Amino acid sequence: MTADTIGEGVQISHLVKKFGLPGQEMLALDDVSLNVAPGEFVSVIGPSGCGKSTLLKVVAGLLDADGGSVQIGTDSVRVATKRKSIGLVPQAPALLPWRTVRENVKLPVRINPRGNRGRVLREPDELLRSFGLGHALDKYPKQLSGGMQQRVAIARAFAFDPSILLMDEPFSALDEINRDQQRMGLLEFWQSNRKSVMFVTHSVPEAIVLSDRIVLMAARPGRIAEIIDVDLPRPRHEDAYASDAFRDLEAYVRLRLAAVMEEDAHV
Ligand code: ADP
Ligand code: MG
Repeated sequence: MTADTIGEGVQISHLVKKFGLPGQEMLALDDVSLNVAPGEFVSVIGPSGCGKSTLLKVVAGLLDADGGSVQIGTDSVRVATKRKSIGLVPQAPALLPWRTVRENVKLPVRINPRGNRGRVLREPDELLRSFGLGHALDKYPKQLSGGMQQRVAIARAFAFDPSILLMDEPFSALDEINRDQQRMGLLEFWQSNRKSVMFVTHSVPEAIVLSDRIVLMAARPGRIAEIIDVDLPRPRHEDAYASDAFRDLEAYVRLRLAAVMEEDAHV
């Protein structure tokens, strides 16, 4: 794969984000630095309130930082959002109920037809078919299950062929069986359509099975506690969960997460 097909890197340097009034500010992000390589899949995990969503929102350009910088490839976030390089999948699918599945995926392209640096936009029907939604093109969101709606939202994020994909707990509203299916579907799609991904999750197995690296964050102040390499072979499939290497890593991440939460409880 060429550099153009595997996305652009993200350079996050000494990022600071504060909330609250002057004098009573809380540090949602305190000196967060992280480089995501082109085509790399990075998960972000950590206790509730440690700044995971804030980090994604700053990278997406939805929030301004109070310090530090974010670069997408060689551009600022502002430039990158203009050229539609960033695809965001929110926690709730946020589909338009009065539009069909196909229309929902077409919407960002229709509103901004110039799209991503003149790059060919993904054809919505083809995109939806590759997410297993070929039969649902003319359905309305309410006719679909939660898992299918979430897949539409992911397909929509791919519609501009972004080089960076940001996902904030996209499967958290799904039950475990559905969640596992969605996760495997995403893994399979990503393995043949590489993008740089920052993926927020609460699930340790989900973080491991998907990622090249796991960023463990701690709260108060929100910061990176540890970055863990996921040294498991790719492509990965359902059987990845069964290896001893997977289980060792899962035990380790759980231990480190518990330590971070324990520390948080004593603040
Ligand atoms: P996470 O996604 O890891 O659960 P968030 O990034 O949502 O955490 O929040 C980090 C911290 O910043 C939390 O303490 C949260 O209450 C606070 N926070 C987030 N957004 C805002 C906001 N818009 N105004 C004030 N405080 C906020
Ligand atoms: Mg969050």
